[in-house]
Amino acid sequence: MEATVTASAPAEERANDLDGLWAAILEDLRERLTREQFATWFPRTVLMEVERDEVVVGVPTAFFQGWLKDHYQGPLARSVEQVMGAKMRVRLEVAPDAPPLPPRTRPQAAAGQPASMPIAPPTGGVAINPDYTFENFVVGQSNNFAHAACLATAESPGNTYNPLFVHGSVGLGKTHLLQAMCLSILERVPETKILYLSSETFINHFLQALETGDLTNFRHKYRGADVLLVDDIHILANTERTQQEFFHTFNELCNARKQIVVSSDRPPSEIKGLNERLVSRFAMGLSAEIIPPDYETRVAIIRQKAAMRNCPMPDNVAQFIAENVKSNIRELEGAVNTVHGRAQVENAEITLQFARRALPSHLDAPSRAATIEEIINVVLEQVPDVRVSDLLSAKRTKSIARPRQVAMYLARKLTSHSLAEIGGYFGGRDHTTVLYAVDRIGDALKDDPSLRSLVDRHCRALTGNRS
Ligand code: ADP
Ligand code: MG
Repeated sequence: MEATVTASAPAEERANDLDGLWAAILEDLRERLTREQFATWFPRTVLMEVERDEVVVGVPTAFFQGWLKDHYQGPLARSVEQVMGAKMRVRLEVAPDAPPLPPRTRPQAAAGQPASMPIAPPTGGVAINPDYTFENFVVGQSNNFAHAACLATAESPGNTYNPLFVHGSVGLGKTHLLQAMCLSILERVPETKILYLSSETFINHFLQALETGDLTNFRHKYRGADVLLVDDIHILANTERTQQEFFHTFNELCNARKQIVVSSDRPPSEIKGLNERLVSRFAMGLSAEIIPPDYETRVAIIRQKAAMRNCPMPDNVAQFIAENVKSNIRELEGAVNTVHGRAQVENAEITLQFARRALPSHLDAPSRAATIEEIINVVLEQVPDVRVSDLLSAKRTKSIARPRQVAMYLARKLTSHSLAEIGGYFGGRDHTTVLYAVDRIGDALKDDPSLRSLVDRHCRALTGNRS
């Protein structure tokens, strides 16, 4: 679509054009963000101006301006480019009187998410997806501990594990579990005051309260909750004032034996920029990790997601998807959606052949360029004195540790295994060891030409490409 806004259009027509254009840009942007990110940051934005190579977007406060610039400039620019057909600069301006979006541009379920209508937030915070129930959560080895901890906490909030800290990388079900807790608590005791929100929303509310001088109301709301669930707490890192506020909220709720649940993409001690006091508070409770699902769990999830969509899913297709999509459940779900959607559009039966055709991007993913066994073989060819058993052993002499780190680095780059899976493969090491190896080699590559050429050769041997 072309930009239809011209400088000479009468004011009202021009405003309509701008609204229509902005609605189209937001439609595109919605697909790039989670439902919550979109709902938190974009309903109160407007398109103010379109110039030759720049668009001016109005945002309600200076805090929005800074946050959008730091976190959403990229997707915003891509959506502008997509809709306008040209690369444009996006300038953010504070325009406090900007009207809220008309209902037609409010977010529906984002792509890849179930299409049910969200439940209105129980007491503020974020809408809950009614499909994110415990019943719809497939339990396997990778998540059974986190699932059990959430279930027990939901049965008796404030009395079991407090705080409950759920961590695991993106797309593994943290939000699903937190929302399942909300739904289950509300079903049992509907009058429970639950606040479920992401850290972004907490930051946003807090800074708005600071700006309007309305801290009393803010504190009343948060400290009055019976259950507070904060999703993606790692986002609080490096926000000193907000962390302080959260710390006080946390203490007050804990002292009153109210339940606190937080999620994060890593354990508290590994969140850089998280205040020590918060880290130690989180350590007082129970920490439950979710790791990437094993093959059987992936198959079960595919079956369940297909059943929820009334999509016939032959066993061999479920197995095929599970073999090829390993990194996270959101992607698994995306693969089911793609196969289902294509089958409906083409009115085709879902067969293995059809799935292969429908999912080329999943199969060509660069992350599937090599297996860990191949990587180890290639790395060891260059160090004849080191054996596979050495790499997997606890030995830490430099002559063994270096090739091990290089192999871990390549496993991270060239396979779709998670850090935990790679660590498991290399003699049961944990994901932090793998992360350390990846960082060490990544740093060393910058100033060590001989290492660079070695890694380059390995990559070419494994993939036919440069690293
Ligand atoms: P996270 O918050 O960890 O990034 P989400 O909770 O958003 O991940 O999960 C991503 C998608 O995968 C959601 O649609 C969720 O319903 C689905 N999902 C995750 N884990 C499971 C599971 N064990 N069973 C069924 N669906 C799951
Ligand atoms: Mg989440």
